[in-house]
Amino acid sequence: MNFTATVKQELISLPLEKTCCMTSELNALTACCGSLALLGGGRVQLHYATQSAGVLRRIFTLLKQRHGISAAPRLVRLNSFGGVRQYQLRLTAEDSRTLLRSMDPQRRESAGLRGVPVRMTRRICCRRAWIRGAFLGCGTVTDPARGYRAEFVLADASRAAHLVRLLELAGVPAARIVRRGSEVVYLRQGDALVTLLGLMGASRAVFHVENVRAAGSLSGSVNRATNCDHANLSKQLSAAQRQVEQITRISLACGLTALPRELEEMARLRLSNPDAGLRELGEMTSPPLTKSGVQQRLRRIAAFAQALDGTAPHNP
Ligand SMILES: [Zn+2]
Repeated sequence: MNFTATVKQELISLPLEKTCCMTSELNALTACCGSLALLGGGRVQLHYATQSAGVLRRIFTLLKQRHGISAAPRLVRLNSFGGVRQYQLRLTAEDSRTLLRSMDPQRRESAGLRGVPVRMTRRICCRRAWIRGAFLGCGTVTDPARGYRAEFVLADASRAAHLVRLLELAGVPAARIVRRGSEVVYLRQGDALVTLLGLMGASRAVFHVENVRAAGSLSGSVNRATNCDHANLSKQLSAAQRQVEQITRISLACGLTALPRELEEMARLRLSNPDAGLRELGEMTSPPLTKSGVQQRLRRIAAFAQALDGTAPHNP
């Protein structure tokens, strides 16, 4: 599985959130992988197309949950793209109208998907959901071993401008170019990529990117966390789990390089070895540490993470 597919797999397995966010995610998916066909008489038909069965399932679930709409999915092989599989969902004219009206009650549905009502993404939670939906619909991310790059390919400038604005509000600097008639929104910087993945809820992908980044500054033995699947991870000792969460929080807030060098080393080791015991972690540091030495560093990391949340000044 390439990294894009891995990240999408993680995102579509996230539980559905609040009603407002479900609406927002569905609207983004509609804007990014939906298209309209005119049926005559001012009627339109909404049609979703994606290469991911999982993404189609997510659309299907959201349609059902939010609007009680169900439609039969189809699998099509696109001869013009070397037999690429495409999953499609076609709504009836009636359902299409219901959905488009809900996206923007003031406009005629034939106005299409161009405009994205800003009031739909006023809350932070809904903005995150919109960005996640957009990524599922039209996003890709390069394997971090080959560079830090994510991009979204959108059909028109107004949707691209909306996405750039949402990304900027979320602290992710993004740029735009036009490529082969499509609007491309992209970012290519490690910190921006980590923030993007984190705000969408792809925490395993965040660990993976942090590991790859760490491999640049530490010796090469740092790639185990990615192979640890979620089921296993959640079975780990709650202490290790909590440490990983604290470290991710630090990473998202200010980057692990904000930690003193010895704590940064410990943080990266913990991220790469979520299932290692304290003694094992101690053997991996250079020079090696005793169990209580490891414990002490982990406590300082915890204090640093706590200081990020509260107002107390941190003193790691
Ligand atoms: Zn929301």
